[in-house]
Amino acid sequence: MKTLRLILGDQLNAIHPWFNQVEQDVCYVMMEVKCETNYLLHHAQKIIAIFAAMRKFHQALVEKGHQCLYLKITDRTNLHQIDQNLARIIQQAQIEKFEYQMPDEIRLDQVLKDFCLSLHIPSECYDSAHFITTREQASIFFKQRSWLMESFYRHLRTKHQVLMQQGKPIGGQWNFDKENRKAWKGTPLAPPDWREKHDHSAIFHDLQQQHIEWFGVPKQNQIPWPIDADEARQQLDYFLQHVLTHFGDYQDAMSQQQPRLFHSLISFALNVKMLSPMQVVQLTEQQYHLGKVPLSAAEGFIRQILGWREYIRGYYWANADKLVSSNFFEHQRKLPTWFWNGESKMSCLHHCIQDSLQNAYAHHIQRLMVIGNFALLAGLHPEALHRWYLGIYIDAFEWVEMPNTMGMSQFADGGKLATKPYVSSANYIDKMSDYCSGCHYDKKIKVGENACPFNSLYWHFFIRHSDKLNNNPRLGIVYQQIRKMSDDDKQAIQSQAERLLNQLETL
Ligand code: FAD
Ligand code: SF4
Repeated sequence: MKTLRLILGDQLNAIHPWFNQVEQDVCYVMMEVKCETNYLLHHAQKIIAIFAAMRKFHQALVEKGHQCLYLKITDRTNLHQIDQNLARIIQQAQIEKFEYQMPDEIRLDQVLKDFCLSLHIPSECYDSAHFITTREQASIFFKQRSWLMESFYRHLRTKHQVLMQQGKPIGGQWNFDKENRKAWKGTPLAPPDWREKHDHSAIFHDLQQQHIEWFGVPKQNQIPWPIDADEARQQLDYFLQHVLTHFGDYQDAMSQQQPRLFHSLISFALNVKMLSPMQVVQLTEQQYHLGKVPLSAAEGFIRQILGWREYIRGYYWANADKLVSSNFFEHQRKLPTWFWNGESKMSCLHHCIQDSLQNAYAHHIQRLMVIGNFALLAGLHPEALHRWYLGIYIDAFEWVEMPNTMGMSQFADGGKLATKPYVSSANYIDKMSDYCSGCHYDKKIKVGENACPFNSLYWHFFIRHSDKLNNNPRLGIVYQQIRKMSDDDKQAIQSQAERLLNQLETL
C-alpha cells in the first residue's frame, strides 16, 4: 500500500519510530506554506530558521534512502495550504493511505482531522514521540486539584526516577528555588555566544521573492539557530559543560550587556523536536552525578523541562479552546508602537524589546517580569500581546507560548495557572538587573515627570482590580499596604498612573 506521511515544520524528530527503517512503499512530504508564514507577523529569524532546519531534515532523509517530497515556498505547484497540497499529492501519486503525527496546535489538529474526514482513503495519526507526558496526562492529574506545577513536577520526578534516591528527592529537597534568585554583578563571567552562525541568505531571498512579511532583524547570513539534531546536541553539550553550573544561581538575573547570561538557548531545538526533552533531563542529571554541577543548578534546569514544559503543554490541551479569548481583567489597550521597534524611554523595556528584535530571543524573566509585567500593569489587550509573543520569539509555538502569555504572564484565565499576577514595581527590576542605572526615569519615585512608570502603575493595577484580587490570600500584604496609604498619596498615585495610561506611546 502506497502511504503518504506528513512531517510538519516542528516535527523534525529524527529518532521518531517512523524513520527506523526505509520503507519502499512510504513517501514523506514536507512543505513550506504561506498559510503558516502569513497567519501572523513572525520574526524573520523564526521563519528562516524553521525553513533551514526543514530543508536539512529533508536532505538527511533522502540521504538515508527515504522517499521524501519537499515543497519550497517558491515552488510553482505549491498551493500554500497544507490540506490542498496533500489532496493534490494524494491524487497525483495515487496514494492509498495518509499518515501524520499529532500536531501540537489545536488549529492544525483540526485542519488535519477535517482533512482525514474528507478523504476516501484510510488515514492514521501517530504520536509525535517527543513529549514525556501525553496531551491528557496533566488534565487527568489535576482533575481533583488546582493546577500547581510543583505537584506535577514531583509526580514526574518520582515516576521517571529523576534526581531521586530511595523514593526521596536527592538532597532532601524538591526545590532549590530560593537559591536561584541572585542578581548578576559581572562575575562569574558570562559565556560568549557558543553557537555556530549560518548563512541562510538563499532562504531570505525566497521569502522576499514571495513577499512574505516579517519583522525583527533577519541576520540572514549569521543565524545562530541550529539546523539539525547534531548541531543542537553540540550546543546543548557546551551549555551542560560550561554554563549550567551557573544557571540556577542567575536564572532570574538580567543584564544590559549580556542578555543571554547563563540560559541554555535550547528552546528552538526542543520545540522543533531536534532535541528530546527526556534526553536533556538525563544528560543534565548525569552532569550532577559526575560532580560537574551543583544540585541546585541541575535541579533548577530539570524543573524547567520536566516540570514547566510538560505542565504548560498539559495546560494548553486542557484549556486551549477558552484560553485565547480569556480576558479576566477586561484589558483593552492597544500595544504601543514601541513594541515593534523598542524605542521606549524605559530602559528595561527598551533593552528587552531590542534584544528580542535583534535575536528573536529574550530569557524568561525578560519576557515575564519586564515585558509581560508592563503589559499587565498597563492593561494591554492579552490576545494582542499573545500574538506579539507568538510572532517575535524563535521558540514560539502556540502550545507553549499561549499558556505562558495568557495564563502565567497576563492572568487572563483568572488565576488558573498562576496563583497571583506576576507584577512588580521598579524595585524588583532594579534588584535583578542593571537596567535602572542610566534610565530616563527614576526608579525611586512614584509621582512626577521622571517617576518610573512601573511604580504608580503597580498600585493603580491593584486598586483598579481590587474587586477581583483583594480576596487572594497571596496578596494580603499588598492590600494591607494600600489600606495604610493616605488618601492624598493614593490620589496622587492614581492621577499619575492615569496620566501615563493616556500616553503609553510616549513612555
Ligand atoms: P532556559 O531558561 O535555559 O530553560 C530551559 C528550557 O526550559 C527552555 O528551553 C524551555 O524548553 C523550558 N522552559 C523554561 N520555562 C518554561 C516555561 N515557562 N514554559 C515552557 N517551557 C519552559 N517558551 C517557549 O518555548 N516558547 C514560547 O513561545 C514561550 N513564550 C513565553 C512567553 C512568556 C510571556 C513567558 C513568560 C515565557 C515564555 N516561554 C516560552 C517560556 C520561557 O521563557 C522560554 O522557554 C525560555 O526563555 C527559552 O529560553 P532558553 O531555552 O534559554 O531557556
Ligand atoms: Fe524600568 Fe523603571 Fe528601572 Fe527605568 S527606572 S529601567 S522604567 S524599572
